[in-house]
Amino acid sequence: MTAEILSIGDELLFGQTINTNAAFLGEQLLSVGIPVSRATTVGDAKEAILRACERAWAENDIVIATGGLGPTHDDITRDAVTAFFSSTLVFSELVFADIRSFFDRLRRPLLDVHRDQAMVPRDAHVIRNAKGTAPGSHFSRNGKHFFTLPGVPHEMTKMTKSYILPLLQPLVRNPPCVTVLMTTGIPESRLAARLEGAEKYFDSSSLAYLPDPRGVRLRILSGGDIAPSHHTEFLEFIRERIGECIYSEESAALGEVVGRLLREKRESLAVAESCTGGSLADLITDVPGCSEYFNLGVVAYSNRSKLELLGMDPDLIEQHGAVSPEVARAMAAGIRRRAGTSIGLSTTGIAGPSGGSALKQVGLVWIGISTDSGTAAFRYHFGEDRIRTKKRSGQAALDLVRRHLLGLPMESDIVVETSAS
Ligand code: ATP
Ligand code: MG
Repeated sequence: MTAEILSIGDELLFGQTINTNAAFLGEQLLSVGIPVSRATTVGDAKEAILRACERAWAENDIVIATGGLGPTHDDITRDAVTAFFSSTLVFSELVFADIRSFFDRLRRPLLDVHRDQAMVPRDAHVIRNAKGTAPGSHFSRNGKHFFTLPGVPHEMTKMTKSYILPLLQPLVRNPPCVTVLMTTGIPESRLAARLEGAEKYFDSSSLAYLPDPRGVRLRILSGGDIAPSHHTEFLEFIRERIGECIYSEESAALGEVVGRLLREKRESLAVAESCTGGSLADLITDVPGCSEYFNLGVVAYSNRSKLELLGMDPDLIEQHGAVSPEVARAMAAGIRRRAGTSIGLSTTGIAGPSGGSALKQVGLVWIGISTDSGTAAFRYHFGEDRIRTKKRSGQAALDLVRRHLLGLPMESDIVVETSAS
């Protein structure tokens, strides 16, 4: 079974919007065993949309088009696709009731343009939109399926999960096994070295390294025609070699994983941030219910605030500089004392682009962790990109907490390759 994603919108071509819909759909379709064979983007022009529909429909069993279903003059997908299937528009009472109740909930008046959104193709099944006004459509012909969805990401994702995936999943015979392992704290070259010998599984499985500032995701895909035990064996092989670097097998965020551990072990956390500027606390507070274990976060960016807020010995900064293991340790111990938590965590580094020196290069980050078994600092080099360094520092700090809570070894000098995204 082959699928194509058709993204529609000038803003996607002109670089004003990143095509996250195609990424989401590609991942979701793969998860139910339908690898996407092509993703096409076209602008808001009827001819271009018709030509793209024609080719995609001729070559694939499934086509999912997103964007251009709204009420404004540049939204022409509905009319183009209706014409493509030689259909006509009819008024849908059901969709109109959905739209009315949507506006009632928002306490906003219904306009005439919204009435037009209740016009749907006669020969298609309506895909109801619980999060917005534009309904989607589902055309099915000779065992093939064509879907239209609105461009707004949260509307599109909801409709995909509630309508499209449940419909397609049972149609897939011998679905492939797909597993995504989230790793952090180890660059892809070192992962690859530790996974030497994985080639013996490559006849029927593939292994992809997907690096980003969170770490490297490993995607393991095994063909549907092989025994599922082959996939399990391959996963076992990987876990044996790099198990401690894997923080999730369910695509959970590291903040979520650490939060779960803190809660299970009844521990609590406070953070003193310098180079991460609050983004570490942000990762922690992305998780609902974090107030159970997260107590205090301080952005102590200036030297003075490090002294005043964290009760640090003034000589430390003078002697060692703000970016040093001594200061990282004092920050972690200071915030732990101040907050009365079981764990204190700190970041101090040179995010750049300036401020580096021969001894302390841009990208150097020290992360401190203070627990009842002692206080330590770990050194990292995250390269020259300021934003990536901030992101990686937050992730590395959380990983230290994960390793501490699980009793795993902590590495003391992690150099992340700057080329790995
Ligand atoms: P609406 O009813 O809001 O008009 P629509 O179906 O007409 O929905 P568009 O007008 O194409 O959708 O886009 C609505 C919003 O969704 C815009 O902010 C657009 O940038 C965003 N969007 C559209 N397509 C994508 C995409 N492929 N990936 C991410 N965002 C997208
Ligand atoms: Mg629109």
